[in-house]
Amino acid sequence: SDLSSDNIRRLVQEENVKFINLQFTDVFGKQKNVAITTSQLDSALNGEVMFDGSSIKGFVRVEESDMVLAPDPSTFQIFPWRTDSEGKAARMICDVYNTDGTPFDGCPRGVLKQVLAELKEYGYEYYVGPEVEFFLFERDKDGNPTTEIHDTAGYFDMSPTDLGEDARRDMVLMLEKLGFEIEASHHEAAPGQHEIDFKYGEALKAADQISTFKLVVKTIAKKHGLHATFMPKPLKNAHGTCMHINQSLFKNGKNVFEDKDDELGLSQEAYYFIGGLIKHARAFSAITNASVNSYKRFVPGYEAPTDIAWGIENRTPLIRIPGTRGSGTRVELRNPDPTANHYLALAAILSAGLDGIKNKIEPPAYFDGCTYDMDCATREENGIEKFPETLGEALSELEKSDFMKESLGEHIFNLYIKAKKAEWRDYSQEIHNWELKKYLNYY
Ligand code: GLU
Ligand code: MG
Ligand code: MG
Repeated sequence: SDLSSDNIRRLVQEENVKFINLQFTDVFGKQKNVAITTSQLDSALNGEVMFDGSSIKGFVRVEESDMVLAPDPSTFQIFPWRTDSEGKAARMICDVYNTDGTPFDGCPRGVLKQVLAELKEYGYEYYVGPEVEFFLFERDKDGNPTTEIHDTAGYFDMSPTDLGEDARRDMVLMLEKLGFEIEASHHEAAPGQHEIDFKYGEALKAADQISTFKLVVKTIAKKHGLHATFMPKPLKNAHGTCMHINQSLFKNGKNVFEDKDDELGLSQEAYYFIGGLIKHARAFSAITNASVNSYKRFVPGYEAPTDIAWGIENRTPLIRIPGTRGSGTRVELRNPDPTANHYLALAAILSAGLDGIKNKIEPPAYFDGCTYDMDCATREENGIEKFPETLGEALSELEKSDFMKESLGEHIFNLYIKAKKAEWRDYSQEIHNWELKKYLNYY
């Protein structure tokens, strides 16, 4: 990119930018922001802006709290929605460093960069196309989010039944202003559910784009008086929200997942990559599906996976190979949802796939039937394991995985498991309405 520090200084002047948001995500995927005025731009570009890391969940203890933000100049962007005469606002996405100049090992973006650097040693580049879905709900008279929806539309339906349609249109326009190439935008299967797809790209850029995407969707929904949520399963008896990750590896500008001579048009690398994903799926699930609610999506009937199988057409297995070949040849991982810290999620699944290539892990034969309600015998015959059914189960699997510990680094691995276990325990101790309705009178 031509966004050198000098160019940024010039743009800030020319466009009358007054505030610069230095953005990063905590370990749990929550976006954080330190706003500086343009007078601090030089020190920001020199990586001299410090913040108190102890106030960020999952960063450091109070006694070692000073952290440094190092903005990535290529992520500089002026927010199109703040154009008042007072001056504009811009942002840069940052890596987090220790005060001694070493990368902070609790920085999720840094973890992804590390796995990408390892991949590069093998001569590959990782391309990612995320498909992020979301719900648009009404707000109540006090502005609080509800689960009310006033549209009755379904997949690909046309307006005017859908109040969210206008909001989605504005989201698309805003994303385009921010440099996204939008490939599709449509109503999804559930009432109030939407999807906006943007063009695949190099993984770090795609991860940064997911951050921007979430921010734009939330901001524009609010402007329309709606609430956008990435919660995976807000409604019972309706589809949930996924963040499918389409993946391919490139070498010297060529997609290496394609092989025209193969029965399925897939290369040996693609098969090994799938093998690695399947081997580590139970271990990375707690990262790619980070909430209690995430696992309520994995039930038969709503196009979400329940089993660790891979197939071609069928939308029920964990992995699907969409029809496109050539440079569009890709492996679609269908379990991730937007509760994941997307930097950690990409780091985890890429290292799983790369492990497949390094260690020549053959996947089981592909299974192109419906995996819902498969019996044990069929599962065993086809070498298919079940995807974890709860966050608790997923966390036990993650905790057992030395491989994931290595990929994510001990710092993040340990604190993630500790915090998420506490979340799971808190949930498990709760007495839910469902239980009271079912048992209070019955027993
Ligand atoms: N919303 C579905 C899910 O929860 C996926 C629908 C689709 O294939 O796009 O996984
Ligand atoms: Mg979809
Ligand atoms: Mg998809």
